[in-house]
Amino acid sequence: MPIYGFSCNACEKQFETLVRSSDTPECPSCGSTDLTRQLALIASPGKGGEDAGSFSSGNGGGGGHTCGGGCCCG
Ligand SMILES: [Zn+2]
Repeated sequence: MPIYGFSCNACEKQFETLVRSSDTPECPSCGSTDLTRQLALIASPGKGGEDAGSFSSGNGGGGGHTCGGGCCCG
């Protein structure tokens, strides 16, 4: 389900809510509908994902020296 972040222009509260098409969300704090939709930066809660940053996780060593000129590995 799409969850969008909003920022209330009336009380500046930031919140996230489900938004269906043709459905106007309201500020849970003051009830205003004068909202600014934020970028989709809401991560699904309770979903421990292993995404992004799966590089350089422990060099297993594979004969891929990059020093070349014998500066460190003689
Ligand atoms: Zn508000």
